[in-house]
Amino acid sequence: MEVIRSKFQCPACNRSILNRKIDRCLYCGASLPQALLFSPEKIAALDEETRKQEERRKQHPTPQTVEQSGFLSNAIDTIDIISDIGGLFD
Ligand SMILES: [Zn+2]
Repeated sequence: MEVIRSKFQCPACNRSILNRKIDRCLYCGASLPQALLFSPEKIAALDEETRKQEERRKQHPTPQTVEQSGFLSNAIDTIDIISDIGGLFD
């Protein structure tokens, strides 16, 4: 089985960096070099994007049951993860 290698890997354990906003490897806890991380500007841009999405969600609330609302927040978490994975390859 082929291992998919990201160009952003922890120098200590060689595993893909899951979240480039965090300056530590989520697997082994090693500090990551700045070169592998998002710049503060990029993080600010991402946070701004998240904030805009939150605002849109507040402005256009969809009536939903508690159950559906749980499902929705799970889906949003998944989208977050996908966008982080996308960031590995930019
Ligand atoms: Zn590591």
